[in-house]
Amino acid sequence: MPQRNLTERLYNLRRDRSSGYEKPYKPALLLSLIDLIERGDIIRNQILLTDDLISRYKDCIAIVGSADDVTKIAYPFWHLAGDGIWVLYDFSGQPLYRPAQEGIGSLSVKRIRESMHHASLDEQLFIALNRPIERNLLRDAIISRYFPKHRDKLRASRADFLQQSEDKADDGGALENDPARSAAFSKTIKCVYDFQCAACGIRLRYQDLNLVDACHLVPFSLSFNDHPSNGVALCKNHHWALDRHLIAPERVAGQLIWKSSKRLDPRTDDQHLLIELEGQPLLLPRDEDFYPADASIEWRMERLLG
Ligand SMILES: [Zn+2]
Repeated sequence: MPQRNLTERLYNLRRDRSSGYEKPYKPALLLSLIDLIERGDIIRNQILLTDDLISRYKDCIAIVGSADDVTKIAYPFWHLAGDGIWVLYDFSGQPLYRPAQEGIGSLSVKRIRESMHHASLDEQLFIALNRPIERNLLRDAIISRYFPKHRDKLRASRADFLQQSEDKADDGGALENDPARSAAFSKTIKCVYDFQCAACGIRLRYQDLNLVDACHLVPFSLSFNDHPSNGVALCKNHHWALDRHLIAPERVAGQLIWKSSKRLDPRTDDQHLLIELEGQPLLLPRDEDFYPADASIEWRMERLLG
């Protein structure tokens, strides 16, 4: 779909006018989504109804909504499917929303989370929203069409949102400390590794918090490389060990495995956690594009304490 058609589609969202004016929910949800994409929270076209999205949506509604607007995100989330903005898929891969199915009962965040595997944006729209120039054009189009009076407040709110960095210091206090860059890397790595430690497999999430760290293989201060292939998700223990060159990934016969330092002493119980890792496979992302790059692996192996 060319840009013009995308803009037209965004201009013509069907909105509830039952209370005498157009409700702001759908365009506010789209703006929220665009902000999350810009911040690096959404890197693949599999969108979930996350707490971050809900929180951003409430911020937007607080600016563009009126007093009697409810902030139930479930409604616009569901009904954007009817505008062809995205397709909601259930856990068997079938579309969840059907046009004739308006009265599906009471929608709720819980209900959507239980029944929806993910939402996929129109592919062309997703591509456009990942290109900064097109993203800005589409954002401006939405604001001009639906919220021209709130342009300044929306801009200020967005700047605040983009500056919030979820994680203070990756890499033990990153030398090149750009919070937005570092937060984007962190989010990307955690997502592609599905919040799981690539060494022990622990995955612990509590509300918006999670246990794993996003670690650079070659430190950013040396490589200036934030591509996911220069990173790995590790729990605090294994992050600590990687930083001290007590463990490192290695490629053996095409497989990525962990090596542990020969300096670790098998006679001491407290080093077993690391020694037992020797020869174990890395728990890798599903998408091979995000596997650690050979150059990054070699950098680590060269420094493994021998
Ligand atoms: Zn671990």
